[in-house]
Parts: sequence; structure tokens; C-alpha cells
Amino acid sequence: MATCTAEGVATALRAAARVIAEHRDELNRLDREIGDGDHGENMTRGFTALVSKLDTVEAASPGAVLKLVASTLISTVGGAAGPLYGTAFLRAAAAVGDAAELDPPLAAAALQAALEGVVARGKAVVGDKTMVDALTPAVAAAESVAVTGGDVAAVLSAAAEAAEQGAESTVPLVARKGRASYLGERSAGHLDPGARSTALLLRTFAGSAR
Ligand code: ADP
Ligand code: MG
Ligand code: MG
Repeated sequence: MATCTAEGVATALRAAARVIAEHRDELNRLDREIGDGDHGENMTRGFTALVSKLDTVEAASPGAVLKLVASTLISTVGGAAGPLYGTAFLRAAAAVGDAAELDPPLAAAALQAALEGVVARGKAVVGDKTMVDALTPAVAAAESVAVTGGDVAAVLSAAAEAAEQGAESTVPLVARKGRASYLGERSAGHLDPGARSTALLLRTFAGSAR
């Protein structure tokens, strides 16, 4: 398994930037169906800016990298997702503190803290058709693998699997938060773009930790 030092975390984020860019049109299309069509654009802008920062800033610990992600996403993504993902990474950074390396319990704790940040910021609950529908089951899956002795790759891969299922579960839902909620019943029958981007990020982190 790849180590989760600052460098390992930065590598995972560079991979995430590539995956987000590859899925930019898909995320825009999902957001066109129930929002304003910019989620792929917003996320690509943020992760492109992040890669430039990673190229110039030497982050000393995984927590420092996560803090850099937070500040970059907050200042570049915009919309609803920018502050939500920004808060998620900021809380994850606080949860890992100045640890030199992420172990399975820390990785699970970082995901838990990220979820708490998203909920504190956006006030969504499971079933509201948001990224919370992907992140909540991901946290539960991560924790159950961490307590049974799985390594970081196993923790993240369980989280990714649960997030993918959680994202799929948004399809029949009527949105109760964010722009999609303006559509009321017409939001049903579409995958939530933020839940999809959350699943993409977790799948990439899992692949990177292998
Ligand atoms: P905007 O809607 O401002 O254009 P984006 O398109 O980038 O922003 O992001 C939309 C995504 O943000 C949604 O698909 C949803 O997952 C997420 N989202 C919106 N509002 C909330 C909220 N209150 N809590 C959690 N997630 C939310
Ligand atoms: Mg949008
Ligand atoms: Mg927008």
C-alpha cells in the first residue's frame, strides 16, 4: 500500500484533479438537469488551482495538504459546492492535526469530520439529495473497516463503494437543499451532481492508496 504521508496525500489529490477534469462534462450535464449546469466547471476550476498550489507550496504534513485544499477550494470553486467542500477539507485537516502519516483510524476520522463540516455548513440530512447522501454511508463504511483492522486502502475503498451506492440512491429523491430544490418534484429521476463528485473523489483516493 502507498503511504499516506503529505506526499501520498498530494499525489491522491493530483489524481483527483485529473479525474474531476475527465468527468467535467458529465458533472455539468448532471447539474444542467437539476441545477445551473456548472458543477463540473466549478470543480475543475478548483482542482486545477489546487494542482498549481501543490506545485509551488511544500506542505509538511497530510493535515497541511488538506488545509491547502480547503483554502484553494473555498477561494476558487464558488457556488454551493465551494464552501461545502472547503469546509469538509478544513475539518478533515483539523481531525488529522499534525500527524506525519494517516493510519486507518485517522483516515476514517478525517472522513467523519468532513461530513460534519458539510452538515454544519449546509444543514442537509440524508435523503435531501445532496453530497451528504454519498458521504454519510461512506463514513459509516470507512469506520467499520477501520475498527476491524483494514488498511487505509481498504478503508477508502469501502468508503468509495458506499459513496457510489449513496450517489445512486439520490436518483429517485426530491431535492430539499440547494438549487435542485427549486425544481420540487421535477428534481426526481436525476442523479445529484455533488453526490457524484463526492463518489468520484473517494474512488480516486481509494485507488491512490492502493
Ligand atoms: P451551485 O448549485 O451553486 O451551482 P454546484 O453546482 O457547484 O453549486 O454544486 C451543487 C451541489 O452542491 C449539489 O449537487 C449538492 O450535492 C450540493 N449541495 C447544494 N446545497 C447543499 C447543501 N445545503 N448541503 C449539502 N450539499 C449541497
Ligand atoms: Mg451548479
Ligand atoms: Mg452555480
